[in-house]
Amino acid sequence: MAGKLVIFSGPSGAGKSTIVKYLREINELQLDFSVSATSRSKRIDETEGVDYYFLSIDAFKSRIEDNDFLEWEEVYPGQYYGTLKTEVDRLTKAGKNIIFDVDVVGGANIKRQFKDKAISIFVQPPTLDALKERLEKRGTESEESIQKRLKKARLELTYSRRFDHIVVNDKLETAREESEKLVREHLTK
Ligand code: 5GP
Repeated sequence: MAGKLVIFSGPSGAGKSTIVKYLREINELQLDFSVSATSRSKRIDETEGVDYYFLSIDAFKSRIEDNDFLEWEEVYPGQYYGTLKTEVDRLTKAGKNIIFDVDVVGGANIKRQFKDKAISIFVQPPTLDALKERLEKRGTESEESIQKRLKKARLELTYSRRFDHIVVNDKLETAREESEKLVREHLTK
């Protein structure tokens, strides 16, 4: 069941990273995380090469020019995120299934390139108020960053229909179970 792609997208704070983390811990699924590159600064609890490859804006732009990305987006003004081709090649050669945590444009983009090899899942917050509450509780963002993420979420929610499946994350446990079922089905297909 190797060589398949699993894409999780959705607004920041919808809970996709928590679901992705849960799935990665199920050894049997053999899911390896695609570590993205980003130009945003590292949070205290993050590790270089594990959570992201942290690049300066200039370094990021120069990798864009070198055509090193499978996809990239300026997810927030001045903050770039992208999937490096080398990352996907490395994991594919190692015979792994790959799991992505990317924004909605990136997710739709990867799905378009890999078609049936990939399953794309949109994680949707029950409401925008719930999303705001989660971003505040997470405590990793400034008020300005929360506002930026909420503004963007309104647009991101309109992308849900481009995905193979929508998982509404009202109760985390249910969302995790639903996601696991979809991923298992895809990997055994
Ligand atoms: P955060 O700053 O909270 O880690 O991520 C912000 C947003 O960028 C999230 O929606 C996350 O999924 C997205 N993101 C992370 N890596 C990538 C990537 O490689 N490509 C794209 N398009 N978005 C990404």
